Amino acid sequence: MKDLFSKALIPYIFAIVISIGASGFIIWQSDANIFILISMLIIEIIFLLIVLSLLFTKYVKPISKATHTINEIIKGNFNARFHSSASEEIGELSLKINTLARSMSEISMHEQMQSEQLSTLIDNMQSGLVLIDEKGYIHLVNRKFISMFGKTEKEYKGYLYYNVLEIEKFHETVQNTFLYERNMKEVFVHRAGLEKRYIEIIGAPIFNDRNLLKGAVLVLYDVTELKKLEKTRKDFVANVSHEIRTPITSIKGFSETLLENGTKDEEVTKEFLTIIHSESHRLQLLIEDLLSLSRLERDDFRLVLNKFRAGEMIDEVLPALKHKAEKKHLDFSIDVDCDIILKAEKERLKQVVINLLDNAINYTPENGNIEFHLGQVEDYVHIKVADTGLGIEQKAIPRIFERFYRVDKARSRNTGGTGLGLAIVKHIVEVHEGKIEVESEVNKGTTIHVYIPK
Ligand code: ADP
Repeated sequence: MKDLFSKALIPYIFAIVISIGASGFIIWQSDANIFILISMLIIEIIFLLIVLSLLFTKYVKPISKATHTINEIIKGNFNARFHSSASEEIGELSLKINTLARSMSEISMHEQMQSEQLSTLIDNMQSGLVLIDEKGYIHLVNRKFISMFGKTEKEYKGYLYYNVLEIEKFHETVQNTFLYERNMKEVFVHRAGLEKRYIEIIGAPIFNDRNLLKGAVLVLYDVTELKKLEKTRKDFVANVSHEIRTPITSIKGFSETLLENGTKDEEVTKEFLTIIHSESHRLQLLIEDLLSLSRLERDDFRLVLNKFRAGEMIDEVLPALKHKAEKKHLDFSIDVDCDIILKAEKERLKQVVINLLDNAINYTPENGNIEFHLGQVEDYVHIKVADTGLGIEQKAIPRIFERFYRVDKARSRNTGGTGLGLAIVKHIVEVHEGKIEVESEVNKGTTIHVYIPK
């Protein structure tokens, strides 16, 4: 402001003062009346004040307002605006300042949105994320990382990673990423209390424009479920191979003996052929069960629901099972509400009844009792298979639905069981959106309830 006064106003004031002096001198020289002299001076001073006030309103005041607005914008207040129509130039200046404030406001909003989006993205990632600078200081940890490894953001940010993290593989990954300046991958086991989690860590170097290493990003995934699936798959392949190897070895051995020694001894030949037949039957059952399971587990599996009477299904499955139970002198009681209408895939539900009753017969010693009930409970069709057989230990109950799990391996094989029966039952019930409950006591018996929605 002072500059403005000195540069623009002072020459004006100087000119007016000179003109007042000059006119005073002229009047004084011309012997004019003192009264006229003073009046002239007053008029000139008034004129000077009018000029000054005009100059102030037109230039000084708007420029001071403009400076204030610009200061506000510098401070980050992009809502500051400046309006003035004092002169054409000032009007244009105000327009430019307001346009600048508006675009600064838009840029800052855009930046804020982007940074909010980025931090939301980082915090909601399903993987842990850590950002480390070239000196090893942590600059960022996301929410997932904190939920995986504990502590708070404050306890990580600004600290050297090796002072706040005790995970050896983490240190190794950071060091190797810095050393080789390329992506590094490791898997480690992290124990949180009793829980054991498998974590995959990927380290990626960060470079600046001049290709100088500026730090590293570490991404951590929880791969426990994947590891479990991998283990299940490996176990399944091992189990299938094991199940197939036994009958195949037997078939091969007995057929080789027959080929080498001939078939002269009719009794031995018959015995060997019976074993070959029963082992190949076992193989056939195993393959059929495996195919059933694989069909049920296919992603594109669709149930073909149809309506049928319970009596219709029972007539198709019970005679053969009843015959089997009678052969073992088991008391087989049947209590079925034949008129119940089921909405299910008949062939699959038949398989459930067969597998459950087959087990009841197989795991109940002679002269025991077997009970089969089919009725209605609320919106479900209730199927109950109870036996007075061997029973199952409490701790084994949750496992009997696993593929190839057997409480007593030898007994299951002797009864011709494949170890897949209940796994198939569970799948069929699940695809029908039903549920299964098991009650069992060792040496007292087992009761299995299946509920299928009507
Ligand atoms: P398996 O072909 O061996 O019978 P399942 O999957 O049908 O295979 O059954 C798994 C295991 O559960 C059986 O090996 C057996 O040990 C146990 N189990 C199933 N049903 C019964 C039952 N009614 N009584 C006693 N144990 C049973």
